[in-house]
Amino acid sequence: MPACQAAAVRLLLVEDDPTISGPLMEGLRREGFEVTHAQTGAEALVAGPVDLVLLDLGLPDLEGRVVCQELRTRGAVPIIVVTARGAEIDRVTLLDLGADDYVVKPFGFRELVARIRAVLRRASSEGLAPLAKIEVGDLIVDRRTRTVTHRRRSVALSPKEFDLLVCLGEDPGAVRSREQLMHDVWDEHWWGSTKTLDVHIASLRKKLQADLIETVRSVGYRLKVPDAP
Ligand code: CA
Repeated sequence: MPACQAAAVRLLLVEDDPTISGPLMEGLRREGFEVTHAQTGAEALVAGPVDLVLLDLGLPDLEGRVVCQELRTRGAVPIIVVTARGAEIDRVTLLDLGADDYVVKPFGFRELVARIRAVLRRASSEGLAPLAKIEVGDLIVDRRTRTVTHRRRSVALSPKEFDLLVCLGEDPGAVRSREQLMHDVWDEHWWGSTKTLDVHIASLRKKLQADLIETVRSVGYRLKVPDAP
């Protein structure tokens, strides 16, 4: 589990089907989440504050979309929508409703947990209102324009290389584990090889500076903090 995860994240599971909610709550609690259950849209709308909502769109009382919109107008709580396979809803519609991500039934438990963690991480980094520009020594990473300059020279990076550099640059000198980086940059459900990560690190070193990103053996990587001039 990534070190940045808080001990007890509170989830609200909105799901009317007990054959899904039962095992799901059990699994999520085993993962260390605190889970509240709502069986209807009305219950969901009166539930106390939580850190993330898992929202089934097929509810017995209210339209799931209405619940999603209503939750969204009330605050910035991250929402992951659960839809049935083949439901007439696409990613754009879901994002319009204010959902942060979605999963399609039947989904894998590991996939769901990975998405929950990714959405929570995105939400918490947005909550901190990060500076548009990250400056570390001769390196300037501008998130607003997605441009990078190193030693006053502009460097062209691929989108994933850029995201990876931002992850490392958010806290220069701090070690980011391989798992954290994989989740943050490739966010969805990367349970395969992490060789992709090494390839992107190698490319960043080549494009920027060989020793700018340090390998921390069997843990991960960190952005080198330059010595004081
Ligand atoms: Ca349902």
